[in-house]
Amino acid sequence: MTAAPDTASGELISTDPRTGAEVARFPVADTAAVDAAVARARDAGAWWAGLDPKARRNWLLRFRAELSRRSEKLAAVISAETGKPVDDALLEIMLAIVHLDWAAKNADRVLKRRGVGSGMMGANLAATVEYRPYGVIGVIGPWNYPVYTPMGSISYALAAGNAIVFKPSELTPAVGQFLADTWSAACPARPVLQVVHGSGATGAALCRSGVDKLAFTGSAATARTVMASCAESLTPVTIEGGGKDAMIVASDADIDNAADIAAFGAFGNAGQTCAGVERVYVVGDKYDEFVEKLAAKSRDIHGGSADTDQYGPATMPKQLKIIADHIDDALNRGGRALVGGRESVGETTVQPVVLVDVPEDSRAVTEETFGPTVVVNRVANVDEAIARANDSTYGLSAAIMTKNIGKGREWARSLRTGAVAVNSFLSFASVPALPFGGIGDSGFGRIHGDDGLREFSRVQSVAAQKFALPMNLLSFDRKERDMKTVRMMLSKFYGR
Ligand code: NDP
Repeated sequence: MTAAPDTASGELISTDPRTGAEVARFPVADTAAVDAAVARARDAGAWWAGLDPKARRNWLLRFRAELSRRSEKLAAVISAETGKPVDDALLEIMLAIVHLDWAAKNADRVLKRRGVGSGMMGANLAATVEYRPYGVIGVIGPWNYPVYTPMGSISYALAAGNAIVFKPSELTPAVGQFLADTWSAACPARPVLQVVHGSGATGAALCRSGVDKLAFTGSAATARTVMASCAESLTPVTIEGGGKDAMIVASDADIDNAADIAAFGAFGNAGQTCAGVERVYVVGDKYDEFVEKLAAKSRDIHGGSADTDQYGPATMPKQLKIIADHIDDALNRGGRALVGGRESVGETTVQPVVLVDVPEDSRAVTEETFGPTVVVNRVANVDEAIARANDSTYGLSAAIMTKNIGKGREWARSLRTGAVAVNSFLSFASVPALPFGGIGDSGFGRIHGDDGLREFSRVQSVAAQKFALPMNLLSFDRKERDMKTVRMMLSKFYGR
């Protein structure tokens, strides 16, 4: 059972994946409703962009405080719509709040006008760069981390002075509504953050609504559709796509720690993490020990709807077939299931599956599985592990387990990913100063950090002439002697 727009009533109804019970219903926003929200955002955005940076920071900190005060309630809504344990939901909110706080406190430092050197040709100019708000940003979000993920765009775009129209996943509309309602509680007079509900059609309407930029988080397939819609009006886009992230375990790694991190990275949130561990490459001499420890750990982990379960059901039931197909494909091609197997895919929940000796061209290695399964393959050395990790259309993040942090950093530079965690999993996501985003099918553009603030700003360069130079090259009155000087400069300064 899943959420879907009810065509008869024109409502979007979300349900609890653990029970099928209705959680919430909202009117579906058609094109006119989306356009009206964008028009309201444009008004509110003009006020927001015109605020003194200190005032904007104060409003954002009020929003942060309001979110923090309501966090237990929000965690309950996340849990109801996604099926994830409440504690996991609370952690997600905590992370989102850390980013909101950082964006609020750092926006002025990063975006304010600053002088730059004007160079020899511009000796008479005062050159400045400033990052100005776009205006209205459309945000389209997924369901797997329905607060943390869209807030990665929303917080940074708000801090950069933009208004937001947010379309949450059709599976998690109540979470999206909660965020917009929390903004309204913090700043009742100005709809700087609004939400519109619906499925792909509402998202497509947002792409075509005249927003000044669109921040999309979701699958690579939908990203292509979103880009095509935005291309019609040359609306710029930021894409946070999926991943097929690898963990590399070097010979000197702490294997207990590596097994623990691999288990959490692969099975946490029911494997529904864009930067989750889907593949592990272990250097030969540590392979048997690692596999044994990971298998032992995996047998102690259980997914389901009970309070004692470490993760919940698959939030999106249609993913169950994809997970089953990936397991089948791996086994049919000679892979082995050390823990679980095809039977681990239940009606709502998948139990942990550890696959070994899986051919590198099988779907479990090449495609995003988005379930609590992991492929562990043996490699001769770290170079081979890096080559295999890089042999993917995705490039979101990776993890390297080694006691030698210097080596870990060096290996990280050879990985074709947007982020790398050394001796941890996903740790970069908790550091607000670190930009986040991928390459290839994992997308482009960055949220978080200074780059995340600039992502939602249009850069404006100003060159102000302070005095006239004796030589005026940009005039029909320029003299022959001026061009002689240019020729002399070309050869003297740049010709060697
Ligand atoms: P989808 O790509 O299915 O959907 C993402 C969003 O796009 C949803 O709000 C969806 O609406 C909307 N949408 C669907 N069709 C269109 C359309 N034609 N035009 C505009 N919008 C549309 O992804 P999921 O929600 O299933 O999320 C899971 C995916 O997100 C995984 O691939 C995961 O890896 C990725 N992800 C990436 C992250 C990152 O930071 N890189 C973080 C988290 C997840 P609706 O739900 O109503 O169909």
